Amino acid sequence: MESDKLHYNVSIIGGGPAGVATAIMLAARGVSHCIIEAQPEPTAKAGEALPPSARPLFRQLGIEDLLQHTSHSPYYGNMSCWGSNEFVQEEFIHHLHGHGYLLNRQHFESQLQSLMQKQATKFYSAYRLQHVEPANPGIKIEIANGVCSKSITSDFVVDATGRKASVCRRLGIEKEVYDDQFALSFRVKLKEPMARQIYIEAIDTGWWYAAPFGDKEMTLMFFTAKDLLPTKPNTVEFLQEAHHNTQHMPKSLDLSQVETSMVKVMPAGTSSLQVPYGENWLAVGDAAYAYDPISSYGITSALASGYYAGHALSDHLAGQRDALVTYRYIMEKAFQGYLEKLFHQYDSEKRWSDGSYWKNRFPKIQPESP
Ligand SMILES: Cc1cc2nc3c(=O)[nH]c(=O)nc-3n(C[C@H](O)[C@H](O)[C@H](O)COP(=O)(O)OP(=O)(O)OC[C@H]3O[C@@H](n4cnc5c(N)ncnc54)[C@H](O)[C@@H]3O)c2cc1C
Repeated sequence: MESDKLHYNVSIIGGGPAGVATAIMLAARGVSHCIIEAQPEPTAKAGEALPPSARPLFRQLGIEDLLQHTSHSPYYGNMSCWGSNEFVQEEFIHHLHGHGYLLNRQHFESQLQSLMQKQATKFYSAYRLQHVEPANPGIKIEIANGVCSKSITSDFVVDATGRKASVCRRLGIEKEVYDDQFALSFRVKLKEPMARQIYIEAIDTGWWYAAPFGDKEMTLMFFTAKDLLPTKPNTVEFLQEAHHNTQHMPKSLDLSQVETSMVKVMPAGTSSLQVPYGENWLAVGDAAYAYDPISSYGITSALASGYYAGHALSDHLAGQRDALVTYRYIMEKAFQGYLEKLFHQYDSEKRWSDGSYWKNRFPKIQPESP
């Protein structure tokens, strides 16, 4: 394979929300950069709920108009059964920032990529990272798309590859994993439209998330522990039983239409790097800090980390020595606050405290005493 040789100040690996937000800020600061994205087309990733508190960040990044597209729907609150048998309603009407959004995630990803075209960010679509090594000065990466490969040198490489943190892994930097939660995610067809709200319900083996997807479908996710996951042939039966064990989830949801091939199974726990940057590299989004979906904070955190990382890298390249330390401080503070809330969220569910999912959910988190 023939290999082109290229140079950018910053190479971003991964074109999801974190990678794109980093590129928006680097472009605004006039720093040369590129994005390398493994997928040839935007994909429908898991994760769609955007709480009202995300809206100021979208404004800050100059991308609030993306939310107005008819593919995305406003949503007005949560109904949840957690910690007691009651079904509790939280309405956003009293919220400072109004309603949240249920994103059409595939469309959102394609909107983000169109932004990259508009701001003329070089976007290597369908290229996968093959190799990364220190180049003295800077860092060198090899990328390939099956037909040709390219060799790129940069001052910095940004790991925006999501939970797998592929750049860090290749550099030998491990993530700390806090739990072994997995999600089983699928959609069902609706007989009639449902209220635009999110349903959450805890049961003995995990918890359910349900949200309308347009007027005709519902996104369903069941979160459980890795060692409770069913074998592939038992997937549908497992989900039907978990649905049967709920008290409040709409019983009109017809899980008999679900086939094993429609169910995506993926890790969905909490993990973090010890330090989100090092010699000529920096991590953003899930690659740096992956959040439990109960927080609905993953997309917001990915965009926020890109925002701060873009500024920190621009400042660092302009000679500001403490820029990366500031980035670390902001990200760690947010993550510590999240860990506290996460611990209390799961600790508030005592109904099955001896059950294998709920028991000792977070042995590594030591909440501060009041
Ligand atoms: C089941 C589940 C439910 C969730 N629900 C919510 C929710 O309701 N609300 C919310 O805010 N968040 C939710 N999240 C989290 C949210 O989806 C993520 O936090 C968010 O996508 C992180 O963005 P990112 O840019 O860091 O990573 P990603 O979106 O994962 O993007 C990483 C990109 O890197 C590319 N890539 C990976 N490896 C390579 C490589 N080697 N070379 C080149 N490219 C590569 C991938 O193709 C991908 O496009 C959920 C997550 C899960 C698993």
